[in-house]
Amino acid sequence: MSNLTDLRQRFFIADSPVRGDVVRLQHSYATITAQKEYPESIKRLLGEMLTAASLLIGTLKIDGTLSIQLQSSDENSLINWAMAECDQSGIIRALASWKQETEAQQQAWAAKSTANEAFAELGAPGKGVMFINIQPKGGEAYQGIVERSYDTLAECLAHYQLQSAQIPTLINLACDGLQAGGILVQMLPLTAEEQYEIEQNESAGIDDDLWMRLSLLTRTVKFEELTTLDAREIIYRLYNEEQVVVPEAVELQFGCTCSRSKCEAAIAQLGEAEALEIIAEQQGMFEMDCGFCGSIYRFTKDDVEQIFA
Ligand SMILES: [Zn+2]
Repeated sequence: MSNLTDLRQRFFIADSPVRGDVVRLQHSYATITAQKEYPESIKRLLGEMLTAASLLIGTLKIDGTLSIQLQSSDENSLINWAMAECDQSGIIRALASWKQETEAQQQAWAAKSTANEAFAELGAPGKGVMFINIQPKGGEAYQGIVERSYDTLAECLAHYQLQSAQIPTLINLACDGLQAGGILVQMLPLTAEEQYEIEQNESAGIDDDLWMRLSLLTRTVKFEELTTLDAREIIYRLYNEEQVVVPEAVELQFGCTCSRSKCEAAIAQLGEAEALEIIAEQQGMFEMDCGFCGSIYRFTKDDVEQIFA
C-alpha cells in the first residue's frame, strides 16, 4: 500500500458479525477544499461529510455512487447546501454553498470553527433536510431522508442506519481542517446458516457482550487520533484485545465526473431560446464552470445551435 493518508480500511472481529471501516483523508481533502475559500467550519463539515460518504458506500454492495446532501430550509441560515460523494472505486468530491455577502455574515462565519457549528446552521434539530442518495451504475437511484434529530452529522447518520437498515451502527467523524478521519462499526444480522449453527451448538454462541464492549471502546477514540493516526493504528489502539482481521485497504482520491457532454445535456434541458438569450447576455459565450473541480466549459452560439440541431 503506497498511500496511507487517503484510504478506507476495513476490519472484522474474527468469528463475530461485527464489521467496521476506518477512513482517513488528507491529500484528497486538501485538493477538494482548495477549490473555494471555505469558512473554516464549512471546510471541516465537508471533511466529515466526505469521510461519512466514504464510510457509508463501504457498507453497500452496489457499484455506483453515494452522496450525502444537506439542505437548509431556513432562508436566514448561513449555509445554503453542502454535498459530498464517494463512488465504489474510491473517487470522492464535495461542494458547499453559503452566505457571506454582508459584513455580519462574514463575521458570523469568522466566529465559527467547528464542523458542528456549520451543521447547526441547518437549524435546530428537526429543521433542515439531509439526504442520502445512492446511484447504482445504470440502475435506479434511491434517496433516503435522514432525520435531523441530533446535533452532529455522525449521530444523525448512525441513527439513520439503525432506522433504515435495522443495523446497529456506531459512527465517529472528525476533521481538523487539514485532515479528516472517521470510523464506522456495524453489527450485521446473522445469516440463517449462522443462526442455525448457534442454535445447534450452544458453546459456539456469539459473545453476548461483544457489541457492548465495542461500543464502549469505539467511543474512546479521540478526535486527534481520527485525524492524525494511520487507519491500522487506530484499529489496533481500539481493539487490540479482540481478534481483528484487516484486509487490503481501498485507496480514496479526488475526482470529478463533470464533462462537456453533461454540460450539453444541461443546455438542452434549458431550451434553445433561453440558451441563446444567455449567449447574447454574455458576449456570445455560454460558460459553465464546475464548482467541484474548477473546470470551465465554453459554448459559442454555433455550439449551442449544434446542440439543438
Ligand atoms: Zn468537475
